[in-house]
Formats: sequence, structure tokens, C-alpha cells
Amino acid sequence: MVEYKTPGEIDAMHGAGQVVARILAAVRARAVPGVRLSELDETARDVLAEARATSPFLGYHPPFAKSPFPSAICASVNDAALHDIPSRYRLADGDLLSVDCGATLDGWAADAAISVQVGRERPADARLIATATEALRAGIAAATPGGRLGDICAAIGAAGRAGGYGICTDFGGHGIGHAMHEDPHIPNIGRPGRGPRLIPGLVIAIEPWFLGGGTDAYRIDSNGWTIRSTDGSRAAHVEHTVAITDAGPRVLTCPV
Ligand code: MG
Ligand code: MG
Repeated sequence: MVEYKTPGEIDAMHGAGQVVARILAAVRARAVPGVRLSELDETARDVLAEARATSPFLGYHPPFAKSPFPSAICASVNDAALHDIPSRYRLADGDLLSVDCGATLDGWAADAAISVQVGRERPADARLIATATEALRAGIAAATPGGRLGDICAAIGAAGRAGGYGICTDFGGHGIGHAMHEDPHIPNIGRPGRGPRLIPGLVIAIEPWFLGGGTDAYRIDSNGWTIRSTDGSRAAHVEHTVAITDAGPRVLTCPV
């Protein structure tokens, strides 16, 4: 069931979104060669504590996972696309790092992700991240009252396919509110003009993730969480929490 938020509730969700934006800025600044993924998780926990917010990731136990998620961020490197658990791995020059995180503040959740190049830049990774970012921008632009959910999905999918990238629809965007994952599911491929109508008060996480090798196949590590490309190609993932308002899409996880 889709739950619609009042303008006041959307303002409250913006508060949670600003904590997420601060976490991602802090993690981005610290993501240099030699830093451990576990240290980036500590950075996220510090920002959450300072904001008196909690992590909707920590202890999260969805039906697809064997065990609760043990960390405040997902830190997925290179061929890991989503949901990797921050380990003691030290970032290496040339890595592609995707960081996904959330915050719960005053009972409201927000969720966002970034992909960054660590140290030396690689042109193929730059193009992959730029395409995912363009897909996110196009998806947000389609999140307007009177449109359909399929407009968002189609905009994301068109950008990814134009780049020649693999797209998996098992994991994608979602409604968000008191819970991090609410209805509806928002696959990263769709048909314009289809699906539920976009009504002010709908708040969603829009999150393109693309596989650089061009195939859609993925596998899950034995930990039950980490999603990887099957061909070893790199992946990028970007996300914002967005409210549909009478004035158009309002991004809640942008820094202000
Ligand atoms: Mg996320
Ligand atoms: Mg999400």
C-alpha cells in the first residue's frame, strides 16, 4: 500500500535527507587510497550520532537476506554493485566505490547513494558514473504530478541502455517514509505512461545502478548480501530520496 505524506511530513523527511547528504559528503571526502571500508562506516556512524539520527541499514533484515545487515553503509567496490558489507579492505588507487546509506530522524527515513573514483581516474568508470548520474537526473525530472511511475522507470532505463550498460530489475527504487522500503517498487526499466499515477505526497527513492559489461546478469555472494556482476565488470549506483510535490520533484537528500 502506498502511503502519501503531507507537506509537513515531507519537511520532516528533508531533515533525515540532510543527515544522509552529510554522511555521503563525509564519506566522499575520506574515500582515498589506503582507507579501509570499515573506516568509512565509522565515519557514517559518527555523522549519525552527531545528528542524533539512527541507521535504517544497521540490523535491517529483509526476506532475501540470510542475516541482518551489520553496518550503517553499503560499500561496494568495482564488480560489487550493491549491498556489500564494509570490510577491512583498503581502498586502492583506481577503485570504483559505491556508497549507499540511510538515516532515520524523528521517525522518518531517507536513503541515497553515490559512486566515486578513488585516486587515479579511469575513463570507462567516469563514463559509467556519468551515465548513472544522468539516469538519476532523468528519473527525478520525470517525477512530476500527473505523470506515471513508468515514466521514471523508462527514463532511467533509456539512459542506461543508451550507454550500453546492463540493468537488473530485481533491485531498484522504492517508496520510503517511516520505513526505508515501502511500496511501490520502482524498477530501473519501464514503459512511459504505465503504472500508478504520480500524486503529490508520494516520496520515493530513485536509484539507477548499471553494470559496465553490458549484461544484466548478477550473482550474490555467500554472505547473502553482496550483489556482483557475473562478468567481473564494474558497476555504479546513485540514489536520491525525492518527494513529488505540487511544485514538482523535491530532492530531499541534496546538500543545501
Ligand atoms: Mg540506498
Ligand atoms: Mg534505496
